[in-house]
Amino acid sequence: MNSLASLDVAGKRVFLRCDLNVPIMNGVITDDGRIQASLPTIKNLLERGASIIIGAHLGRPKGEVKSELSLAPVAKRLEELLGVSVDFIVKSNASVLLLENLRFNSAETSKDDTERLIFAKELAGYADVYVGDGFGAVHRKHASVFDLPALMPSAPGFLIQAEVEVLKKLTESPDRPYGVVLGGAKVSDKIGVISNLLSKVDVMAIGGGMVFTFLAATGKEIGSSLVEKELIPTVKDLIADAKSKGVTLVLPSDIVVAPEFSASSKPTLVPVDLIPSNQMGLDIGPDSAKDFARAIKKCKTVFWNGPMGVFEFPNFANGTKVVAQALTEVDGITVVGGGDSAAAVRALGFNDSDFGYISTGGGASLEYLEGKVLPGLAALGL
Ligand code: AMP
Repeated sequence: MNSLASLDVAGKRVFLRCDLNVPIMNGVITDDGRIQASLPTIKNLLERGASIIIGAHLGRPKGEVKSELSLAPVAKRLEELLGVSVDFIVKSNASVLLLENLRFNSAETSKDDTERLIFAKELAGYADVYVGDGFGAVHRKHASVFDLPALMPSAPGFLIQAEVEVLKKLTESPDRPYGVVLGGAKVSDKIGVISNLLSKVDVMAIGGGMVFTFLAATGKEIGSSLVEKELIPTVKDLIADAKSKGVTLVLPSDIVVAPEFSASSKPTLVPVDLIPSNQMGLDIGPDSAKDFARAIKKCKTVFWNGPMGVFEFPNFANGTKVVAQALTEVDGITVVGGGDSAAAVRALGFNDSDFGYISTGGGASLEYLEGKVLPGLAALGL
C-alpha cells in the first residue's frame, strides 16, 4: 500500500493538499482544529528534508477572489504552530509555502475534466511528489484532490491514514449496538447517508433543524421551524424503512421554541405535539436530550454529525451539550464527524481527548460511511 514513509521526499518539493478550511470571523480564526490536525504530516516532511507547497481551500468562493476567504490568517497561524517561517504565495526561501485559496481558480472545482487537468498540471509544475492529507475535501473530484496525484508519485498523509482507519472500522466491523446521531440544518445533505446507514446501525437519533422535516412527516405541526417540504415523502419512506429493519429511531419528545431565529429570542419549552404555529424549534428539549443520552450510552460504537440545536446561541445549546456529554461517557468507540461539529463541541468547552476520534471531514466522513467511493482516496490508492 502507498504510504508516506515509503515516498521519497528528501530534497524534493512536495505538494501537500491539506484541509485548512477553518472558521474565521473578522480575520480571526475561531477554531484551528484542522490546522492542528495537519501538523504531523507537515512536521514529518520537514524532518525528512522536503520543502512543502501546501494547497488548500477556504469556503466556496466559486472561482472568484474574495478577500474574506483568503488563507492569509491561516498562513500566520501555521507559522506560529510550526515555529518555522511560512511564506504565503511566493516570497523567498521558506521551507513551507502556502498557496492562496485554490478555489479562487474556478478550474479547481470544475466539472469539466480537461479544465481541471490543465489546472492540476500547473500545480504539478510546482512540485516533484504529492501528499494528500486534506480529508475534508476527499469526497470532491477537484483538481488538487483527484487529478493532481495522478500526475506524480503520491501518498496519503498521516491525517488521511488515521481518518480512514477509524471510518473503516465503523463500516466493516462496528461493535454493537452501533448508533448514529445526526443533526445540523439540512436533511437534503444527509438523506443519502440516513438511507444507507439504516441497514447498518441499531440506533439512529435525529435532532437539529433537520428533525422538523421528520416531525412534519409524522403529521406534526412544526410552526415556522426549518423544513424541507419536498423531502417529506422521502422521509416518510425512511421512517417506514427504519421500522421494517428494526432500527430504533430516536426523535425528540419536547422542543425549545422561540418566535425568531436570534440569540435573544425568548425560549419556551413545549411538548413536540404542541409547537405553536408562529414559533420555530431551535433546540431539542431536556427530556429529549435525556432520551438521546440514554440511547447513546447504551451503544458500543457511536458516530455523531451535526448539532442538536442552534448551539451558537446559548439559550439553544443545551441539547448539543447533553449529547456531547453522553458521547464522552460511552464505553466504546465514539467518532465526532465534521469540522463544524468538532468546532461546536470545542466551543461548548469539551476537549478533543474527551472523544474517541474527531474527524476533520463532515461530508467526507458521511460519504465514507455511506459506502461511496471517494475520489480523493481512490486517487491515493485507498
Ligand atoms: P450543518 O452544517 O448541516 O451540520 O448545520 C449546522 C448548523 O445547523 C448550525 O450552525 C446550527 O446552528 C444549525 N441548526 C441546528 N439546529 C437548528 C434548528 N433547530 N434550526 C435552525 N438551525 C439549526
